[in-house]
Amino acid sequence: MQGFGETIFAEMSALAVRTGAINLGQGFPDQDGPQAVLDTAVEAIRSGANQYPPGPGLPELREAVAAQRLHRYGLSYDPGTEVFVTVGATEGIAASVLALAGPGDEVVVFEPYYDSYAAVIALAGAVRRPVTLRPAEGRFTFDPDELRAAIGPRTRAILVNSPHNPAGTVFTRAELEAIADVCREHDLVAITDEVYEYLTFDDTEHIPLATLDGMRDRTVSVSSAGKSFSVTGWKTGWVMASAPYIRAVQTVKQFLTYAVSAPYQRAAAYALANEIPWVEELRKSLQAKRDRLITGLEAAGFTTFRPQGTYFVQADIRPLGFTDGIELTRALPEKAGVVAIPSQVFYDHAEAGAHFVRFAFCKRDEVIDEAVERLARLR
Ligand code: PMP
Ligand code: GLN
Repeated sequence: MQGFGETIFAEMSALAVRTGAINLGQGFPDQDGPQAVLDTAVEAIRSGANQYPPGPGLPELREAVAAQRLHRYGLSYDPGTEVFVTVGATEGIAASVLALAGPGDEVVVFEPYYDSYAAVIALAGAVRRPVTLRPAEGRFTFDPDELRAAIGPRTRAILVNSPHNPAGTVFTRAELEAIADVCREHDLVAITDEVYEYLTFDDTEHIPLATLDGMRDRTVSVSSAGKSFSVTGWKTGWVMASAPYIRAVQTVKQFLTYAVSAPYQRAAAYALANEIPWVEELRKSLQAKRDRLITGLEAAGFTTFRPQGTYFVQADIRPLGFTDGIELTRALPEKAGVVAIPSQVFYDHAEAGAHFVRFAFCKRDEVIDEAVERLARLR
């Protein structure tokens, strides 16, 4: 793991604490999830859910996940053999990559990519093949020919994050079809990261790749409770796939962490079964926060991309006379009292991302207002 230093989120959150700057870096909400969900975790502890739960997860959570996939997307999974609980989506993705790719194998990712992807591909001894998402008509997308060109004889899997962090893109059916075509043609597995599945805006619909023709049995889908229910510190996630893939993922996961905290599993099951109306309110409120932050960033001189989903806005820093996002974000607490994430760290092709900076909007309105007021000093 030489070459993988401290994660950008740890570095930037520490910088925010050290300087007292407003933290629009690491993506976590500053208001907790529904009270009934929090109470369920407390009650679970009080009622004795404090010893090792079953390795694959509590049956009640696996059943709640299967019911959610069926009800929301029409996808049917057997909770006994096709749903598996992990320590957040992070472990779900890690166990899936470690299960499916070995030394010398290749895994295709869309850059900018979430930072843990590169690290787990390296842990597997595999090689990442980035396909760049580029701005076109106000959103980030890929060229299907570049995707095809990234596939070789050693390609094992394509990692697909939609809604996409940090680009904010929610892949359209046509984009997903392009990915599915490549998977079907080259007999590849897709690993999907759907942690922002509920957080889409302006009637944009999240379409799970597994719903496309022939994709259910070649897709390992991953999601988690953190973003949907504003409990990012709970680290409770799940993997959904056909039974042979789940067995492979389980083989890896049992030696990473064996099981997942029992009280949070019970609370996540309750949340999936009962709190979708609350999530709908969260979605609406985040859409308004997105617009609030974008208005402020544009007024401060940034060019922004209006995300279709997630917590994040990508901003181009060049109109303000900056070109290097890493340099700018390191200086930003001193210059403006704000912390942001340099998107460049999510790219292999640094030149494609050097001028983008990511701001999180999952914050109270007054925090967003204060941050953009401070950023206006950059001019
Ligand atoms: N994938 C993406 C794209 C993310 O933004 C995050 C951060 N929540 C994760 C995975 C990690 O999710 P979890 O906290 O459930 O491990
Ligand atoms: N997913 C969060 C983000 O993208 C951070 C999670 C983490 O700290 N690793 O900002």
